[in-house]
Amino acid sequence: MLNYFDLPFSDEERLVQQTTREWVEAEALPTIADHFEAGTFPKELIPRMGELGLLGASMPKYGAGMPYSCYGLICQELERGDTGLRSFVSVQSSLTMFPIYTFGTDEQKERYLPGMALGQLIGCFGLTEADHGSDPSGMETRAVPDGDGWVINGSKMWITNGNVADLCIIWAKTPDGIRGFVVDTDTKGFSARKVEKKLSLRASVTSELHFDDMRVPRTALLPGTKGIGSALRCLNEARFGIAWGVIGAAMACLESSLTYAKARPQFGKPIAGFQLTQAKFADMLTSITQMQALAYQLAKVKDAGTLRHQQVSLAKRANAAAALEVARTARTILGGNGISLEHPIIRHMANLETVITYEGTHEIHTLVLGQDLTGIAAFA
Ligand SMILES: Cc1cc2nc3c(=O)[nH]c(=O)nc-3n(C[C@H](O)[C@H](O)[C@H](O)COP(=O)(O)OP(=O)(O)OC[C@H]3O[C@@H](n4cnc5c(N)ncnc54)[C@H](O)[C@@H]3O)c2cc1C
Repeated sequence: MLNYFDLPFSDEERLVQQTTREWVEAEALPTIADHFEAGTFPKELIPRMGELGLLGASMPKYGAGMPYSCYGLICQELERGDTGLRSFVSVQSSLTMFPIYTFGTDEQKERYLPGMALGQLIGCFGLTEADHGSDPSGMETRAVPDGDGWVINGSKMWITNGNVADLCIIWAKTPDGIRGFVVDTDTKGFSARKVEKKLSLRASVTSELHFDDMRVPRTALLPGTKGIGSALRCLNEARFGIAWGVIGAAMACLESSLTYAKARPQFGKPIAGFQLTQAKFADMLTSITQMQALAYQLAKVKDAGTLRHQQVSLAKRANAAAALEVARTARTILGGNGISLEHPIIRHMANLETVITYEGTHEIHTLVLGQDLTGIAAFA
């Protein structure tokens, strides 16, 4: 039912999807609602993610080197469990391993990537600052050359994995413009504080980072980084995973509401038998099918090496918005029970409020597409 048009997945794609789904159902779903309620990330799942090849899945040599379609399906199945699981893998794979692989030296790659692929080292990505979110070029974090290294001062906000990370990709202004650094989090001057009172992405660690006269060696610079474009390339990788991941959240909402509606009688028959409820199901199924077709095509174009960043913006924007709408609709079908953590829908719905905001807000991707169509930038 949830592959309504039976997308032409390869044997490898089916195997990756099935393996990830079975693992999520067996090991993540039993505890994820408790983690969400407690505001904790299930760290105990990380080693198995490494063993299953879910970390850096599409990276040659250090990761499993799978096609991007497989990485997409991994994201879908993780987020069918919880957005926190997919966010962890997105940050590890697309926002930390990818920049080291793409912009780093051989020494940096050998030092970090094997351990990261196994989940023995955890990464985070520090771009956003409290006063500079949608416009990260305005960042105030500075890296100043000093002797045979650099001194970094500044702070970052809303950083996924910040408190549990062993290493951090830090974007900072230097005399040569914005550059990326890979920094061990036990470096003197680095501190992380957990962001409390979140009502979304609760099964994910989000942190505020501070760098106070933090001295790092010359070798911390990622030499291939040049300007904000390097950071945006990483985000583009992660957005690809989001366009897939949110399909999983939407699937979970449709599945949960369908099961509920068939078993819940009102006015003498199951609520699934009312036309208004069936119209909701038809709309949800249509949305999910459109999301799948878009994500599948996105993966094929990415695997062919011809994907434009504007196409990723389109897919992230469209699929995140569609998934949020599915979640909101599914929630109504559960009535009062729809607001309870006993069912997964409100958890997904709350998570998707983050997804529509992070990795470029819905509005910013609207402007990306507007610029692509008109040739006129409307950001400022
Ligand atoms: C749970 C969570 C995890 C995150 N993880 C990370 C992470 O790991 N690393 C990281 O670096 N960041 C991370 N982020 C930050 C995220 O990417 C930012 O929140 C996002 O980019 C938006 O920035 P902002 O919150 O400062 O909002 P703002 O930029 O202040 O935007 C507020 C509103 O104004 C709108 N707006 C802004 N500019 C314009 C414009 N020109 N035209 C029209 N509307 C505009 C926005 O669309 C939005 O609706 C995370 C965020 C959350 C919530």
